[in-house]
Amino acid sequence: MKGAIVVSRPGGPEVLEWVDRDPGLPGAGEVLVRHTAVGLNFIDVYHRTGLYPQPLPFTPGAEAAGVVEAVGEGVDDLSAGDRVAYTSNGPIGSYCEARVLPRRRLVRLPETIPDDVAAAVMLKGATVEYLVRRTYPVQAGDNVLLTAAAGGVGLIACQWLSAIGANVIGAVGSEEKADLARANGCTHTILYRDESITDRVREITDGAMCRVAYDSVGAATFEPCLASLAPRGMMVTFGNASGPVPPIAPLALAQQGSVFLTRPRLADYYATPRETADGIGALFEMIASGAVSPHIGARHALREVQEAHRHLEARQTVGSTILVP
Ligand code: NDP
Repeated sequence: MKGAIVVSRPGGPEVLEWVDRDPGLPGAGEVLVRHTAVGLNFIDVYHRTGLYPQPLPFTPGAEAAGVVEAVGEGVDDLSAGDRVAYTSNGPIGSYCEARVLPRRRLVRLPETIPDDVAAAVMLKGATVEYLVRRTYPVQAGDNVLLTAAAGGVGLIACQWLSAIGANVIGAVGSEEKADLARANGCTHTILYRDESITDRVREITDGAMCRVAYDSVGAATFEPCLASLAPRGMMVTFGNASGPVPPIAPLALAQQGSVFLTRPRLADYYATPRETADGIGALFEMIASGAVSPHIGARHALREVQEAHRHLEARQTVGSTILVP
């Protein structure tokens, strides 16, 4: 038997319960993976609360790294002992000690990428990859606005954008987070609990405003981010940590200067094996070059995931959090 976290009803962190279960054996085209590091993500909170409803009961979790324990029939390119990792382009369920997964979801890990780094970047780094390379291809010199810049996705985005040569303006919730965001590539920071995002962007950019705004905070920051765009800029609303963004009239986009609005999801950018190979390839190259190096702000035992969720929702985390099975 192996341990797993199960949610039987939507709710607060207390609904994350530890159970023992048999992970089973891999069938044709499948692999049994023993997890060594599991990534914590804000999407796990949306699944737990029911904002993104899941069939009950379910095991949360959208990224992990581990070791192959056994392979099923037809899997001839992986064998017991190989190190692998995966992200969320398929059913969730990584909050467990071991599970069976289709071979096609797994990426073999190069020696240069340790397990906890992989568990920190498979979802968060892949998200940054598609946002900055494909949703809006950022160019050197672009003014870029980013909210929750000291978070898991946020710090990786600061590093990647800085490597491109963008002028990164990070909005953060505290002085400590501002220091960390600057140390990871932010050119300017905005303490958005006290300062107006739009006024500060106007000041920092000398009125030029931003080519793109990447906003994952949602309800609390969508409007000031939109108002910080230059004409024909791009508003990318990709998360809802403070709550979902209310409906918006198309005319508001015209009034801001014919701006574009998109609400992207990883699954639509990692839709084919080819896109996945290209995206993960680009991410691993950024890690190998040293341009991206995830900041692991905390580690918790997987059994203590309730505490990890409390910290994440209380805005007490920085960078990536790893759950250790
Ligand atoms: P973070 O580490 O960024 O944690 C969330 C952060 O949001 C907090 O630290 C806090 O930073 C900020 N925040 C603002 N208001 C609140 C609030 N009311 N409650 C909690 N946090 C708040 O999480 P992740 O890196 O895991 O994810 C970042 C975002 O990216 C999430 O919204 C997630 O859903 C989204 N995402 C979207 C994907 C997609 O494809 N669309 C894929 C992956 C992630 P501060 O104190 O600085 O305000």
